[in-house]
Formats: sequence, structure tokens, C-alpha cells
Amino acid sequence: MLQVHDSAARWRSYFEETCANKISTLAASWPKQISFAIDFAEIQAWDVPFAELILNHPRVTIRNADSVLAGMCQESGYDAQPRLRIVGLPPDAMHRLRDISSDEVETFTTSEVIVTKVSELKPRIYNAIFTCSTCGNTVEISQPNELELVEPSECDENAGGCGRSTSGRGSTRFELRHSESTMIDNQWIEVQELPENVKPGSQPVRLSVLAEAELAGKHVPGERIRINGIPYVRTLKRGGAKTPMFDVYISMHSSERKNIPLEEIEISPTEIADIEKISQREDLVELFIRSIAPSIIVGEEKMNWIKKSLVLQLLGGVARKYGDGTRTRGDIHILLLGDPGVAKSQILSFMGRISPRGRFTTGGGTSAAGLTAAAVRDAFNDGRFSLEAGALVLADLGLCAVDEFDKMTADDRGAMHEAMEQQRININKGGVSATMPTRCAVLAAANPRDGRFKDVDWGDPSTYLHKQIDLPPPLISRFDMVWMIQDSVDSTRDRRIGEHIIRVKRTGVPEHLIESGHSVEPDQLLKEQMFTTDVDGNDVLTADFLQKYVAHAKRTYHPVSDDKVMDILVGHYTEKRKKMDDEVNSVSLTARTIEATLRMAEARARLFLRDYVTEDDAKQAIAMDGIWRHLANDSNINPADHTGVPRRAQSAERSIQSIVRNLGRELNGEFTTIDVYNVAAEQGFDEDTVDRMLRNIQNRGDIYAPSVGVWRIS
Ligand code: ADP
Ligand code: MG
Repeated sequence: MLQVHDSAARWRSYFEETCANKISTLAASWPKQISFAIDFAEIQAWDVPFAELILNHPRVTIRNADSVLAGMCQESGYDAQPRLRIVGLPPDAMHRLRDISSDEVETFTTSEVIVTKVSELKPRIYNAIFTCSTCGNTVEISQPNELELVEPSECDENAGGCGRSTSGRGSTRFELRHSESTMIDNQWIEVQELPENVKPGSQPVRLSVLAEAELAGKHVPGERIRINGIPYVRTLKRGGAKTPMFDVYISMHSSERKNIPLEEIEISPTEIADIEKISQREDLVELFIRSIAPSIIVGEEKMNWIKKSLVLQLLGGVARKYGDGTRTRGDIHILLLGDPGVAKSQILSFMGRISPRGRFTTGGGTSAAGLTAAAVRDAFNDGRFSLEAGALVLADLGLCAVDEFDKMTADDRGAMHEAMEQQRININKGGVSATMPTRCAVLAAANPRDGRFKDVDWGDPSTYLHKQIDLPPPLISRFDMVWMIQDSVDSTRDRRIGEHIIRVKRTGVPEHLIESGHSVEPDQLLKEQMFTTDVDGNDVLTADFLQKYVAHAKRTYHPVSDDKVMDILVGHYTEKRKKMDDEVNSVSLTARTIEATLRMAEARARLFLRDYVTEDDAKQAIAMDGIWRHLANDSNINPADHTGVPRRAQSAERSIQSIVRNLGRELNGEFTTIDVYNVAAEQGFDEDTVDRMLRNIQNRGDIYAPSVGVWRIS
């Protein structure tokens, strides 16, 4: 039978027979390229028992492979140490993190995970060189693990040393030669099970992973990867003393990226046929509206529009990249601003559940990383800084429902503008720096400033509705739509909602019966089904099918628009701008509005599974834009249009200039564009004005930009 100690010989035959050429090319380009990737299937095709051996004893076999590789490089005249990276492990090596137990320790396993945290890089000694302080002879010892330094115990005579040992009479000491030893980088990574593989209500399992050499620094939080590695255990220490308990870690061997949008949702050809058939239905839009949170009553006209906007949000517009390196988002952001008890939280939790890669979180959440990201010290108990992903990063390429949006931390407030518009977060703190993507649609809910909208009294400016929102206007302007939901007393409506709530309750199954095994989980019954019925007896799509429809539409259709569509959208925008009161409200119906309506039109085209935007899509989009603005105006507010402070254009430059001067003084000469936005907003300037003015000031040479979004006084 093939034994572990045979593996060096097997590797040599394998390399020589299958990839000798590749190895000599690699030897020549080392260390620019240090890893040598092989697909597991190729080894398996070459020798099945050998492939088995690698799966069962990865640590030794891979170490042998690396020394064989180094030997072959040496023979062809290169002093190179390439690293073998095996990818594409077979399905039987696949484990969920929660299933990794003592059986998997020290075997080759692969898991699909999302990266939640990364530490800063630290070098460690990989190959240590010691000199004997008595005779000066050098000893080389390779250091297999990061926990302890393996030191020589005697100065070996066979290797030309003096034969003294490090203890007893006439002992010697060894000195570590840092400059001659070989170092490699290492990094701790925290990974978590993919949310879609975790049952609702249970916590995803997390594990710490050690990444070394070129794998350190390869991944950023929020990435979905398949990690191939070797689980290992370490003694748990309590108060400095060892205990018989162990913690499991994974030593990363290789990784494969998984960030192809929505690939985790599998759709069969029959299901695609079903989706296409449904897309032909006359009542497609109504069917979708009914299927969004069916337990929330639709009868009311406003709720109908809100649900329609949520349908568009699910599908989203098209994100695009351009030749100059810029990108525009396709995701539609929606804010629900309303009194307590109007079902905001219910809607959010529904959307977080049914949207592909959806997440539900609250603004004042408990995680240190909050909504965006945070640099935290000592997350892995070794004093290093690490970077932790917040909810928006973890919802990359999905939807993030944020309840209590107004309760978010000051840090989040600062990072949110970039996270929502550029859809990335830049963090650079304490030796760790990374750019993390936040390409998700944001559905936020917030209460008015004092918990409830107050009646507007024109004699009292503090009751003007825009004063009742506890969010800065620049942040509000990031939303494509802002819905105001006031809880006003209206007996007919109250009765309708009341009856609806009771009728919905009647359709529920008592939780006790489910848990005692007398009834089946209702959502389990609906798995694999397309339709169910709501309390009014109408057909609605099941959450499962809705998710598949959305995933299919989003990955297959990327609608484009022609000149006619452009005319409609631009016409709407210029009309609206003309009507604005130049004196007071000229602030924020900006070019953003065009982008927002285009996204809505594209989303509607996707709903119909079309690759092009029709005039009808464009008209519906501007109707939607008009409606939310109108409803907001109806309550005397138009948050995105209104900062509440009159301004005169000619003073803009002077005001911004003085803001810049003050910020420069306060912040030691360096400040960010967002700092300027925030202060300028208080004085009634929108961001486009700020951008324009900053450019003017820059052109005059008063400030310069050391990096994107950062300014310095010259
Ligand atoms: P909010 O987050 O806005 O404070 P919740 O989502 O907690 O409100 O809703 C409170 C309760 O009222 C929920 O149980 C919800 O189902 C019910 N409710 C409120 N409005 C409606 C409505 N229009 N249709 C159905 N149920 C509603
Ligand atoms: Mg709530």
C-alpha cells in the first residue's frame, strides 16, 4: 500500500511525467510568481491511491511536494522555492464549517465561506538560521508552525559543529540570525458559513483561518470563497495554563473565488421555462406586488406604490463600468420613513429574507463593524489590528435591509455616503487597509426625529416635516425613493387593516404544534412550489420561486435604452427642474434623479425579462418618481429636494471656501470630501455644488488631492 513516506517519490514521478516544462518556466520567474496550481482531478486521473493519500495526509504530502519542487528547480539551476497549490477538491472533501470535527482534523477539506474579518499581515520565520555561540557553526531549522520557535538542542558534530548541547555542563547557546532567516507573511482570516446555508434563526458558524505566503492579503472581507485547507487543533489556554480542550482552526492551503453574482441559486431548465411563462402574464406587475409581503395589506394606494417600488428594487438596474475606470451603480436604494407600527420592520424582514443574498440588520446593531466596516484591535487574540466587515459588505451583490437606519453610529454615517453611491468602503487604519465592495441595494427604515411625525404647524418651523427627519440631507439624497408613511386615523382604513391582520393570523400554524412535531413548518410545504394563495384567495408567488425569478432575470438580462427612452427621462427631469422654486428649493433635484429613473426603468424591463428598455418602462419610472415626490410633498416635505435653507448661488464659492478653510484648521490641513458635504449641507449646499466649488478651489491651487476623496491645504 502507498505510504506517506512514498509521497516524495510519487510527486517526483508526477511532476516529471506531467508538468516538467511548467516547473522550469516557474523556476525562472520565481519569486515573482511563487505558487504552482494543480487541479486535484489531474492528480486523481494520474493515480487514484496517491490522490487519496493526499486527501488523508495533506500536511506531509504537500510539504514533500514543495521540497520536490524546490529540488527540481535547483537541478535546473534556480534557487527557487515554489509552493504547490492544489485546487478543485472533490465533493467528498466538502464540509460545512459546522460539520468540521475531530474526524476532519489534519485531513484535506474544502468549505464554501464568506470572509468576515482579516488581520494585518505579520512576517514570521519560515526557515530559521542559528549560530552556535561557542564554535560559530550555523544550523538551519525549518519552522513548521507559528506557535513556537523550534530551536536546536545541540551543535551537531556531523554537520561540522562542536557537539555541545544547550543544557548540562559545558553547554552552548544558539543565536537566531534574523537577517539570514527566511520570513513569510501570515494573516488571520475569519470566515463564516454562507448565510443561505444557515437555517433562519440559527447563528452561522465562524472559524479562524491562517493564511501564509502569497495567500496572506489575498482576500478582503465580504468575499465569498471556497477555501481548501487543513483543519488543526490548538490547546485552549485558560489563564495561561493549558487545558484538555481544543480549538479548531484551518490552515489555508489554497482558495478559489466564488463571487459570480447569484451563482448559488440553482435554476433548472424546467424552472426557466416556468419563469418565462409567468413573465408573459397580463397581470405580471400585480402578481409581483401581491407577492411582496402578502401579510401586509395592499388595499391602500400608498402601500401599493411602495410594494411596486420594492419589486423594482429586487430586480435592480444595471451596474456599469466605463473606460476611465469609473462605475455607476444599478442598485435601487429605498428609504421608508414612518410612524411606529406601520409595518416597516415587517416589510424589511420580508425583503431581507426573499432577496437573493438578502440580509436584515438594524442600524444600531451590536457588531463592532456595524453597517460598513471597522478596524478592531486584537480580534484574533494576538494584538494585531484587523478589519471587520459590516452588514453592507456581507450583503455584497444582494440586498441589505437596515431597520432603525437613523440609529446608526457616527462612523457608519461617515462611511455611508461612499458605501451607497460608490458602493465600496475604504479603510486604512492601524496597519490594515482594504477596499471592500458594498454592491447591494439598501432598503432602510427610520422613524421621525421624535418617534412620530408631528402635525405641521406653519407658524412653527420645527414642525416642518423636513425638520422631523433625523438624517442629514446628503445621506437622504442617496436614496432613489423616500416613502413617508404617516399613521393617521381613518376608520375605514383602520378596519380594513385590522380585519386583514386577523385573517392573516388565521392562516398561520401555531409554533407549538410545529415544534412538538404535530404540524409541518409552513414554508417547508411551499418549497419547490410556484404559487400559494393569499388571504383574499388570489394567487401569489412563493418566496422560493420569487427568488429564482429574480436571480434569473438579474443574471440574464441587462437592458439597454435608446434615444426615445432618453428623451422621456430627460424631459421629466428638465420639467421638474424648471418648476422648482429658484429662490428656496433649488437644491437637490439633481442629475441623480435621471440616474434613479433610468435604474427604475431598467428594473422594470428586467421584470418582463427584456434586454431593452421600452418607452413604457420609462414612463412608469417617471410616474414612480413623481408619486413618491408628490406623496412626500403632500405631507409638505420632499426630503431629497429640500435642505430647508435658502441659498444664493453667487455666495456658494465663498461659503465653501470658508468651510474648507475651517476644516483645514480643525483637522490639521487634511479633510475629506465627505467632511465638506456634511458641513455644506447644514448651510444648504448640495453635493454637486460642493464638487464644483472644490474643483474651482483646486484649480486655483489652494488645495490639492493626495488621494481620492481626500484634500489637503496647499
Ligand atoms: P414598524 O416597524 O413600522 O414600527 P412593525 O413592522 O413592527 O412596525 O408592525 C407592527 C405590526 O402591525 C406588525 O405586526 C404588522 O404586521 C402590523 N401592521 C401594521 N400595518 C399593517 C398593514 N398595513 N397591514 C398588515 N399588518 C400591519
Ligand atoms: Mg420597527
